[in-house]
Amino acid sequence: MSQVLAYIGLGSNLDRPRRQLEQALQELAGLPSSRLHARSPLYRTDPIGPPGQPDYVNAVAALQTGLSAYQLLDALQSIEQAHDRVRAERWGPRTLDLDILLFGDALISGERLQVPHPEMAGRPFVLYPLADIAPQLEVPGLGPLAMLLGTCPPVGLERIHG
Ligand code: ATP
Ligand code: MG
Ligand code: MG
Repeated sequence: MSQVLAYIGLGSNLDRPRRQLEQALQELAGLPSSRLHARSPLYRTDPIGPPGQPDYVNAVAALQTGLSAYQLLDALQSIEQAHDRVRAERWGPRTLDLDILLFGDALISGERLQVPHPEMAGRPFVLYPLADIAPQLEVPGLGPLAMLLGTCPPVGLERIHG
């Protein structure tokens, strides 16, 4: 079976966000035909979307997987559901968000799935943890990660120690 390195963005701002992310990382590691290749540190980040939300905790994981991109999306949505994710307002607070940032060098523009994640180039809470685990990364269709960092300053995030 062919294996792909997928990068997944994790976020939470409800119900003990750090624990949500640590559990989700273990669940990613346990997906069929998959192995957790790397994970970034956790970051505390400013919320986007509706005002008045708690801060987020974000991280990025690299998953070596034999799943297809759509199988992976299904699996991520099942994990979100298991974490009692409720979809209310757009970008509203959530227990867990799992987004496929990259899926190998795939370019996907389906209704349910767009890869690379369309917002990633403008999101410091995605780019900086991604750079922690893949500083030399070439982002399909967008260019070197190092270049994207140059146009997205590290504003509104801090690495969580311990
Ligand atoms: P954003 O995409 O701006 O980060 P969000 O993560 O809050 O917003 P969700 O409510 O988690 O958005 O997902 C909405 C829909 O986005 C999902 O139902 C899914 O089908 C679709 N989607 C499209 N591309 C992706 C992707 N790369 N990863 C995850 N979901 C995606
Ligand atoms: Mg998201
Ligand atoms: Mg999402």
